[in-house]
Amino acid sequence: MKILVVNAGSSSLKFQLFDVENNYAVLAKGLCDNVGLSTSKLKYTKTGCEEVCISVEMKNHSVATQMMSDALMGKVEGMEGCIASMTEIYAVGHRVVQGGPYFSESVVVTDDVMEKLALCYDYAPLHTNAHIQGLKGCFEVMPGTPNVLVFDTAFHTTMPDYAKTYPIPYEMTKDMHIRRYGAHGTSHKYVAIEMCKILGKTEGTKIVTCHLGNGSSISAVKDGKVIDTSMGLTPLAGVEMGTRCGDIDPAIVPKMMETYNIGVEGINDFMNKKCGLLGVSGLSSDMRELIAEVQNGGEKAERCQLAMDILMYQIKKYIGSYAAALGGVDAIVFTAGIGENNGMLRAGALEGLEFLGVDLDTEVNAKTMGKHGVTRLSKEGSKVAVYMIPTNEEYMIAKDTYDLTK
Ligand code: ADP
Repeated sequence: MKILVVNAGSSSLKFQLFDVENNYAVLAKGLCDNVGLSTSKLKYTKTGCEEVCISVEMKNHSVATQMMSDALMGKVEGMEGCIASMTEIYAVGHRVVQGGPYFSESVVVTDDVMEKLALCYDYAPLHTNAHIQGLKGCFEVMPGTPNVLVFDTAFHTTMPDYAKTYPIPYEMTKDMHIRRYGAHGTSHKYVAIEMCKILGKTEGTKIVTCHLGNGSSISAVKDGKVIDTSMGLTPLAGVEMGTRCGDIDPAIVPKMMETYNIGVEGINDFMNKKCGLLGVSGLSSDMRELIAEVQNGGEKAERCQLAMDILMYQIKKYIGSYAAALGGVDAIVFTAGIGENNGMLRAGALEGLEFLGVDLDTEVNAKTMGKHGVTRLSKEGSKVAVYMIPTNEEYMIAKDTYDLTK
């Protein structure tokens, strides 16, 4: 039985095909990149084969889903297929960034669900539009196949009112649904479940999960349920990110608008695309480039170091505040691109947390990367267990999709 997972972004469409009976083995995966631009590309890897990349014009998501289906069926030159027909696909799971106030768990797509999804546009315009395009593409290439939506916000719906309500006039919370929704929920859920398995229980556990990638968020998970998370109404909030500013004094916003004579679009663009590691370093949003600049003692080395120091300090502060919110902490988990691969950053974020009971194995931590699989980074006997757990959002989406449609 095969489940296809689709992640449609504003200019991309990622996909992975899973074999449920074979322990959710990945049969193939691919990426349609730069959709809508003349530079669009299709990358495709059948498990066990080399990645193949071709330039092909994909003017919209409808063409991209058609390319995906052609690749999976072996109809694209140089790409080895793994199914004879799209009817072999039992169901399709879609990653959805924002469920707004309408969805608190994964759902099978119906007309009513499509109407509600359209209402999420107000909360994440670019993403929601892309998700709808991706869904429509799947309806075209797989008519009659069930589709399931899996929301990045769903795992966070257990937050108590005092954690998700902003101190703004209550009418805005109640009528406009302006509140903390969080993001990366599927990833936080996956690593929290894995961590609970390691701890041997869910009830009574207190875990801080750190998803650190281009976008980063940190969650406090008690008894397997989120009680707080760093992202907010949108994924702009929280710690410093690749290009997003995270939490800043809100008064900076009108100040910037006034100084640079920019409007709503301009300030949104500024906070989402020109800040974070890129803005502070003046070099790049990619952590690897910042590390290289510091190591090479380049012209921007000091600014790169500052960008990383800010992030390490902010993560430390979140861990401390979530330890307080949880009333203690049993485990800290690092995941996603930076969390899985950057031992220096993990060590920096945990420095000084010995008082909490963190006893890091610095040698193991320094050499551990995502490719090593689940790894304990703390010493045996450390009161707080520290783990690197590679995230697997696609697996979670495939599993929810199968569970809801079987
Ligand atoms: P996204 O949020 O786009 O899914 P990722 O989870 O892929 O992002 O994370 C991207 C970040 O991870 C980048 O800052 C990148 O530099 C960083 N990263 C990836 N591999 C490494 C590595 N080996 N060492 C340090 N940082 C890494």
